[in-house]
Amino acid sequence: MTQVTKQQIVRWLENAAAKFEQEKDFLTELDRQIGDADHGANMQRGFHKVMDKLPDVADKDIGTIMKTTGMALLSTIGGASGPLYGTLFLRGAISTEAKEALDLAALTTMLSDGLKGIQQRGKAVAGDKTMVDTWLAILNTLAQNQHAPLEEALKQALNASEQGMLSTIDMQARKGRASYLGERSIGHQDPGATSSHYLFAELCRAILS
Ligand code: ADP
Ligand code: MG
Repeated sequence: MTQVTKQQIVRWLENAAAKFEQEKDFLTELDRQIGDADHGANMQRGFHKVMDKLPDVADKDIGTIMKTTGMALLSTIGGASGPLYGTLFLRGAISTEAKEALDLAALTTMLSDGLKGIQQRGKAVAGDKTMVDTWLAILNTLAQNQHAPLEEALKQALNASEQGMLSTIDMQARKGRASYLGERSIGHQDPGATSSHYLFAELCRAILS
């Protein structure tokens, strides 16, 4: 396999919606420890809306699917993470406009444009204990594996994604609500880093299985 198909992108979003349904309580529990206990509900609500909108665009190009997803998330998640996840998909829609399939380079560009958008909007950098730590781990690994087969690159990046998520446990939050806790934020896994890992893991599962 050398290309990610549009059908796999659609399956990714369906898988993600199911995952956020399943992990709602766990994400909320993580957010209870260092935030305001709404991240699980936010993600569940956002992807529920994506599922409402998806049938209208599932046969359109990948850019349209990404854009529709971004708009749905932007209008429903709220909080800090709504605009950030909205931006991830809206930026990812630009390079994928009119495309029906993506090779590894195109998939990497889609995600790296999304990460750039998240960082422009939220100003978080590596080590701030946010979703950015997960996406940086993913994108750094994809960049290092551009000449590997797609499946191998994704497996490596999935591993890195989990490590990125776990790396937030020992960090002190410097962005978002958790930063109000100062040192007390240390020792807790960041909710957004966790939902971002789920999102990437579901992308990998849609492609690899
Ligand atoms: P809120 O904090 O408004 O309640 P959520 O609970 O839905 O929003 O999302 C919290 C997550 O958002 C955090 O765990 C963190 O990963 C992410 N986040 C918060 N602020 C930023 C930021 N400036 N940049 C990147 N991610 C951020
Ligand atoms: Mg919250």
